[in-house]
Amino acid sequence: MAAGKRETFSIESVKGMQFFDPHVHMTSRTTDDYQAMADAGVVAIIEPAFWLGQPRTGIDTFRDYYSSLVGWERFRSSQFGIKHYCTIGLNSREANNEPLAEQVMEILPLFIYKEGVVGIGEIGFDDQTAAEEKYYRLQLELAKEAGLPVQIHTPHRDKKRGTTRSMDIALEHGLDPHMVIVDHNNEETVKEVLDRGFWAAFTIYPFTKMGNERMVEIVKQYGSERIMINSAADWGISDPLAVPKTAALMIEKGINYGDIRLVTYQNAITAFGQSGQINEADFAAVKEIDQTQKFAGNTVLRGGQQPRVDKSSMIIR
Ligand SMILES: [Zn+2]
Repeated sequence: MAAGKRETFSIESVKGMQFFDPHVHMTSRTTDDYQAMADAGVVAIIEPAFWLGQPRTGIDTFRDYYSSLVGWERFRSSQFGIKHYCTIGLNSREANNEPLAEQVMEILPLFIYKEGVVGIGEIGFDDQTAAEEKYYRLQLELAKEAGLPVQIHTPHRDKKRGTTRSMDIALEHGLDPHMVIVDHNNEETVKEVLDRGFWAAFTIYPFTKMGNERMVEIVKQYGSERIMINSAADWGISDPLAVPKTAALMIEKGINYGDIRLVTYQNAITAFGQSGQINEADFAAVKEIDQTQKFAGNTVLRGGQQPRVDKSSMIIR
């Protein structure tokens, strides 16, 4: 966007559209974010297991985190009418703590077969160290054994080399490129990822890296096949509405509806649906919000708040 020029996002332009954000760390976000996402048409999300901003000091915090991704966070999402899935894995940064990484590898099989787990992720390279490579390879084997898709985090530093290497290693382990979603692409990596038959995911980052105007240009150039976009919103400066906002921008820039639907909804379902865990009918079912429900005795309500019970509306207001 040109300096000084601020375009406003209106939900109106994407009203009635449905979005799937295949990479968003809701654990770090507020209930306001959930509400805004639901209002903007986000019907389902994938929350990859990731780095929490500081190193974990023991295996139990991994166990609790994975449990929350298949437990409380899924429940919290349902309270806003959004179907929640997750990917489970050892993130690349913490692969560098080998004693802990060994323990994580031992508990991963306890979580990856659970309902709603649509892949192994996000895994791959950060600093591209030997330890990162070791645990990336072990987790590729795990994915292959479980028949689950892989969600690859490509490094922000030395991205081109890290992306190529991530794909080389996946092929070396005999993974079908169609089972591998390569994330955080940019103009430098997209061609090779698509040429080699992998899925190319793009994270729309506010202010830096991959803004959504650049994303529009990529779709103009490469089309919509095997391309998907996500917000990767987390505890940093990020935008949980990145997917609907980019769809709105694509409409304005004349990209056809079919292509927009593929990159903001359908392709993610096709890719991660290979887990056998995604059923689109569930998106409608979770819209029947009943905030009187509890998870292990807890609700999203605080003292005195009136629960919202909304059994029919598509757009939640
Ligand atoms: Zn992430």
